[in-house]
Amino acid sequence: MDSKTMQFERTSSGEGVKHFCVWSSPEGGQKIDIGKQIFCNRSLNMKNIVAVGFDMDYTLAQYKPDTFESLAYEGTVKKLVNDLGYPTELLEWSFDWTYMVRGLVLDKKRGNILKMDRHKYVKVAYHGFTELSKEDKVAAYGSRLIRDAFDEPDYALIDTLFSLAEAYLFAQLVDFKDNNPGKIPADYSRMYKDVRAAVDLCHRDGTLKKMVANDPKRYINEDSSIVPMLKMLRDSGRATFLVTNSLWDYSNIVMNFLCGPGAGDDSSALNFDWLKYFDVVITGSAKPGFFHDENHANLFQVDPESGMLINTDNGTPMPQVDTSLRLPLKSLEKTSQVFQGGNVGHLHKLLSIESSSQVLYVGDHIYGDILRSKKVLGWRTMLVVPELEKEVELLWTLRDTRKQLQLLRNERDHVEDKIHHLHWSLRFDGVNDVNKEEVLAELDKLQSQQEFARLSHQKAQRECHLKIPQGMGTADEDWLSELPLCTSGGTICLPLYEPSVEFEPLFTG
Ligand code: IMP
Ligand code: MG
Repeated sequence: MDSKTMQFERTSSGEGVKHFCVWSSPEGGQKIDIGKQIFCNRSLNMKNIVAVGFDMDYTLAQYKPDTFESLAYEGTVKKLVNDLGYPTELLEWSFDWTYMVRGLVLDKKRGNILKMDRHKYVKVAYHGFTELSKEDKVAAYGSRLIRDAFDEPDYALIDTLFSLAEAYLFAQLVDFKDNNPGKIPADYSRMYKDVRAAVDLCHRDGTLKKMVANDPKRYINEDSSIVPMLKMLRDSGRATFLVTNSLWDYSNIVMNFLCGPGAGDDSSALNFDWLKYFDVVITGSAKPGFFHDENHANLFQVDPESGMLINTDNGTPMPQVDTSLRLPLKSLEKTSQVFQGGNVGHLHKLLSIESSSQVLYVGDHIYGDILRSKKVLGWRTMLVVPELEKEVELLWTLRDTRKQLQLLRNERDHVEDKIHHLHWSLRFDGVNDVNKEEVLAELDKLQSQQEFARLSHQKAQRECHLKIPQGMGTADEDWLSELPLCTSGGTICLPLYEPSVEFEPLFTG
C-alpha cells in the first residue's frame, strides 16, 4: 500500500463525523467530511468521460431556502389573494421552509400529503398538518384491489426544491378550508391547481428573478469551489458545458455571481468572464424535452451583450436576410458558445461527442435532469442532493444504534423461526404424547422470548426514530436507487425507516 493509498484509507472520527481523504488531490489527501462526499451505487471510470455538463439552478447555484423559497411562497400568496380571490387572511401566513422535503406526494383530491416507501406503499399520511390514523390511512390507500399509481393527474410529486413552498401552502390551505367552511369555495384539487398556477407565474413573470438579480447574495450561497472545479476539469482535457432551463439574462446574473471576477460580490459589474469555463452554454433548454430525440426545437445563438437570438443551422450561424439585424463580427465571436433551445443532438455535435456514455451530467432534478438523459441517452449522471449532508452525518452518528437495531431484528427473526419449526413438527412430524409435552413447553418458553424480543426491537426502533428530526421526515429513497452518483453530496434515507439504499463513497483518479 503506497502512502497515498494509506492516506485514502485513513479515517478519523472527530466529533463522530467520519473523514475520508481524496486520493487524487494534489496534497495527496485532503479530508472531506462525510456529508460532503460523493457516493455511488455503480463504479464510474472517469477516464472515459470526455465532457462534463452542469445544470444551473439548485445544482451550481444553491439557493438559500429560507430566503429564496420564502420569496416564492410570498409571491404565490399575493397572487392567490390579489388575482384569484383567496381570503386576505392568507397574507398573514408564514412559511416554515424546514417542514417539507423532496420525495413527498400530494394527494390533490383528498388534501393529503404522503410519504411513500420505495415499493409505493403509503407509510405516513397527513391531511393538511394532521397525521391520519392508521385506520384512515389504510381506508384511503390500503384496501384496494388495484393500487393507485400515485401519479398525475390526481397526485403531484414534490421532486424539486422549488416545490417545497407550494406543498407547504397547499397543506395550510387544506387546514384553513376545513376550519373555515365556506371561506374557500374551491375543492382541494382546485386549490392545488391555483397554487401551482400561481407558483408557475412567479417563476415566469419576474417576481422571483428580479429579486434575485437585485441581490443575488441574499438568495444564493456563495461557493468558492466552483471555479477551481471547472478549471480542474478543463485542465484535464475535458469539455465542460452548462444546460439550464433558465434564460440567458438570468443565467448570466447567477453565473456571474458564482464564477465572475468578484464571485460572490454582487457589487461587481456583470461581464462574461465566466463563459471561459464552459465550451458550450445552452440556456432555455426546456429539459426534459431537450433530451427527447423527437424534439425538433430550433437552436439559436445568443449574443451575450444584447441577449439577441441569432438563427443557426445546427449550431452554425445562418446568414441573415435583414442586414439591419446583423450583429457585428466581434459579437458573433463572443456568442459562439452561448445558445438557447435546441436538443441533445445539437449539443453532441457542438462538443463532437462520439458516444453518449462519454458524457457526465450533474443535475438536481430527477426527472428534468437525470432520468431521461441516463435511461434513454446513456449519459452518466450525478444527482445533487443537498439534503444528504445532514442525513449521512446523522446516519453516521446513529451507526451503533442502527447496528444494535439489526441485531435485535435478527434475534426476533431467529426466535420466530424456531416457533414456526416447532408448530410444523406438531402438525406434521407425528410427535408422541411425551414429546408433545416437551415441544409445548419449549413453545411456551419461546413465545415469551418472542414477546420480549419484539418489545425490545420496537423500543429500540422508536428510540432511533426519535433521534431523527421530525416534520414529515425526509424524501423517498426510491428515485435514488437507480443513480450512479449522488452528492450533497450520497444516499437519502427515510428517517422513519431503515435505509435500504446504501451508496459507497466514490474516489476516482
Ligand atoms: P435549471 O434547474 O437550471 O434547469 O433551471 C430551472 C428553471 O426552471 C429556473 O429558471 C426556475 O425558475 C424554473 N422553474 C422552476 N419551477 C418552475 C415552475 O413551476 N414554472 C416555471 N418555471 C419554473
Ligand atoms: Mg436545476
